[in-house]
Amino acid sequence: MTQIVKMKGMNKYFGKLHVLKNIDLTVEQGEVVVIIGASGSGKSTLIRCVNGLEEFESGTLEVDNHPLAPRGGNQKNLAEIRKEVGMVFQQFNLFPHLTVKNNITLAPTRVKRTAQVVASATADRLLERVGIGSQADKYPSQLSGGQQQRVAIARALAMEPRLMLFDEPTSALDPEMIGEVLDVMRELAKEGMTMMVVTHEMGFAREVADRVIYIHEGQIVEEGKPDDVFDNPQNERTQAFLSRVL
Ligand code: ADP
Ligand code: MG
Repeated sequence: MTQIVKMKGMNKYFGKLHVLKNIDLTVEQGEVVVIIGASGSGKSTLIRCVNGLEEFESGTLEVDNHPLAPRGGNQKNLAEIRKEVGMVFQQFNLFPHLTVKNNITLAPTRVKRTAQVVASATADRLLERVGIGSQADKYPSQLSGGQQQRVAIARALAMEPRLMLFDEPTSALDPEMIGEVLDVMRELAKEGMTMMVVTHEMGFAREVADRVIYIHEGQIVEEGKPDDVFDNPQNERTQAFLSRVL
């Protein structure tokens, strides 16, 4: 089995705040890992470390066999890792001044030097795949939140990532649009994409996750198959959290 993410004894501080505590976590190729936990527990920080958006202080982290150094170390692999890791945020973060199509072709043409015609054809295919083939020439502000988030997913996929990170991708959406984004993520998972997903959508987690991880105050206190974690949580923190959200 290929391990796409390998974290060992990872610690992260914001000043004096110890945000991630001795995190050991591996994600296998094709695995879908859902991370749950209360607000402020460190979920975003954890996945942001994986593509180097946050630095960590100690421990080791490898992404697709490329080591990322702790703070102050040599970050020679950062550009390569960013190419291989797609990220989707709560607030879509599309470029407002670019059309949908150009949002998707920008990184492949700039970073990978993909020819414009090739990148454009890929964008068309990806937009079809996320169900918005007819929106290519619109600007993000002309789309619904659900459509914008699907563009954001297509944009990440255009780089042919080895791993996709999702940080509460449906939390900013009106309820009626959550399903269409989760459907796209479900399809991606089925097709074998390796995914780390922070979400409060417990139904989705139960259905799609291979493994659920519960984080409490920067520590992984429970992990297991979704049915085990949701139906029979072992840790009292997990029990309390689930009794609030389920
Ligand atoms: P979650 O995503 O689980 O809600 P975060 O990873 O965003 O949690 O935050 C974990 C902790 O780190 C919180 O206490 C938060 O206030 C703090 N934190 C997050 N980002 C920063 C930052 N850039 N500077 C200082 N503290 C931060
Ligand atoms: Mg967060």
